Amino acid sequence: MKSTAEIFGENVFNVKVMKARLPKEVFKEVMKAIDDDQPLSSEAASVVANAMKDWAVEKGCTHFTHWFQPMTGITAEKHDSFISPTDDGQVILRLTGKELTQGEPDASSFPSGGLRATFEARGYTAWDPTSFAFIKEGVLCIPTAFCSYGGEALDKKTPLLRSMEVLNKQALRVLKLFGNEDVTSVKTTVGPEQEYFLVDAEGFKKRKDLIYTGRTLFGKLPPKGQEMEDHYFGAIKPRVQAFMKDLNDELWKLGIFATTEHNEVAPSQHELAPIFTTTNIATDHNQLTMEVMKKVAKKHGLECLLHEKPFDGVNGSGKHNNWSLSTNTGVNLLEPGDTPYENAQFLLLLTAVIRAVDEYQDMLRISVASAGNDHRLGANEAPPAIISVFLGSDLQAVIDAVENDLPYNGSDKETLKIGVDVLPPLPKDTTDRNRTSPFAFTGNKFEFRMLGSSTNIAYPNTVLNTAVAQILKEYADKLEGSSDFTNDLHKLIQSDIKAHKRILFNGNGYDDSWVKEAEERGLSNSRTTPDAFKHFLDEKNVELFTSHGVYSKTELVSRKEIGLEKYCKLLHIEALTMVDMAKQDILPAVSSYASTLAESVLSLESANADAVFEKETLSEITSGLTGAYKALNKLKADIAQSEKIEDSEKRADNIKDVIIPDMDSLRQEVDALEASTDAAYWPVPTYGELLFGV
Ligand code: ADP
Ligand code: MG
Repeated sequence: MKSTAEIFGENVFNVKVMKARLPKEVFKEVMKAIDDDQPLSSEAASVVANAMKDWAVEKGCTHFTHWFQPMTGITAEKHDSFISPTDDGQVILRLTGKELTQGEPDASSFPSGGLRATFEARGYTAWDPTSFAFIKEGVLCIPTAFCSYGGEALDKKTPLLRSMEVLNKQALRVLKLFGNEDVTSVKTTVGPEQEYFLVDAEGFKKRKDLIYTGRTLFGKLPPKGQEMEDHYFGAIKPRVQAFMKDLNDELWKLGIFATTEHNEVAPSQHELAPIFTTTNIATDHNQLTMEVMKKVAKKHGLECLLHEKPFDGVNGSGKHNNWSLSTNTGVNLLEPGDTPYENAQFLLLLTAVIRAVDEYQDMLRISVASAGNDHRLGANEAPPAIISVFLGSDLQAVIDAVENDLPYNGSDKETLKIGVDVLPPLPKDTTDRNRTSPFAFTGNKFEFRMLGSSTNIAYPNTVLNTAVAQILKEYADKLEGSSDFTNDLHKLIQSDIKAHKRILFNGNGYDDSWVKEAEERGLSNSRTTPDAFKHFLDEKNVELFTSHGVYSKTELVSRKEIGLEKYCKLLHIEALTMVDMAKQDILPAVSSYASTLAESVLSLESANADAVFEKETLSEITSGLTGAYKALNKLKADIAQSEKIEDSEKRADNIKDVIIPDMDSLRQEVDALEASTDAAYWPVPTYGELLFGV
């Protein structure tokens, strides 16, 4: 048996492998490319390509692929073999520098939101040397960005890389103000905590809704749900334990450090957290993690559900995006320091994040909007659709003191002076950790908790990075020429806290009174994806992204279009699946049960026996069947109307206002029928079987 240390990263072309296999000069050049985003010379690229190929072939690979993240939200790959013919009719295995650095997938069927039509028909992929190549299923995978020949980003990764660069630039300007001359780069770091469900594969296969949509569209709650709270952090079942062990091994081979794993609130729900890393790598790793989870689950006779809401009435799944900023000198910039200067720098960055979240709350909301996540945000289980920032009582006290020129806790001073005073120690794991906040400060990082479990984290991080970069830019513009830095800094932080404190909320986000209060504070509350998307192209948002070159206007328009199309398509599939299941499986089954009951009534009565149960159930069921049939027909008719709407914004509104309520009505009728029908007749596995079956 290999040890974890031996397994870890064994399928990754990482620094260790490169150091061992590359000539010194080339290795140095690669490290420079990684650390300082310097392009690699074509000579060096050829050497790297050859070393990469040798390494992969030794590990049994015959093919390579450019691995990228198109706007579908999942990853894409097209395999090419290393085999290349020689003049004498033989073959050699090779990977050229050009093949490493640039690829040309036939990408015509990836969504482009009109981008490709307006620009170039073809797209190309470009190697991202900051994310290591790896081996998956015997294929060498080269992480890449995906662009059109006109330079428009056709993927989620390119804008993310741009946003990291923008944030780096502005953060460096700010750090210079504090005398950090040795810092040459600032990167954002992310550790995404991933929630998921595991269900038995046999049950999964019997449900069209799970197969086609990843969630159950019908299903009555079992007598026992999550109310006993006995699952959360409970003992992990042997079968799940075996899955987790296997999953860890597979992830470790890919250099993904999955550390914690535990049961979540809902039965059969679990969580996995990796050790945080640079954001673009964390993004690649999270995409891989989701893929590996699904694959490993199948090996164990399980299915891994990554949908945000697999079961109605049971907690859904999210992804907590732990986010911070870190320097090349190894300093976490959201760690409050020990000296007045470190504290001042921390408070300025903190204020920048607070203001960024306030000013771009609608854009952050959009970045996590999806059909699946609409089931969570706003329901009393996930952060509400309203964005607010939680600081915790200690840090809030500091902020209040700065705002009002007051002394802070434990200080005998008159007022708290930034740049002069030291902050009181801020406990990292305070008991007042708020689990209902969408955006919480947790000691040395922020935790953005609104992401859906299936989300590609690239997009929310692109928005967050750019918004923070914009505020840092304004700060640097203001402070760079200051003749009284400490004083101007204090005033800047103070006035920004005053201007943006409406976004700070330390109370219970699940409370109904918060919705009202948030409205009074002027915070936005877009409950659904179509509502949120109405602000996509607001001038302020377009200005933010275009001014920093993170998205062009056309790229933004395309992303809005793709997001809405995806929403419409997913719900269309859900609606059709419901029709299918109701009409072909459930109603016929219930009807058979009704016939059986009718026969029983006849035979019992001819024997002069009482048939109260049979008669009453029969009438319950037949009236239920009529109700369900009516709801089904209404849904069908409305789907037909909806299909005619061409404009995606109007179609999304129609789905939200007409189709979803229709689906809810049909579900209500069918779930009521489930409660009255002989279990032997019910054609699909029940919630009880799915949730407690593993
Ligand atoms: P929790 O109490 O929420 O479980 P943890 O400290 O265990 O908090 O961290 C949760 C996640 O946050 C982990 O994935 C961890 O790697 C990540 N994390 C910790 N520090 C940072 C940081 N500086 N930047 C980004 N993510 C971080
Ligand atoms: Mg957490």
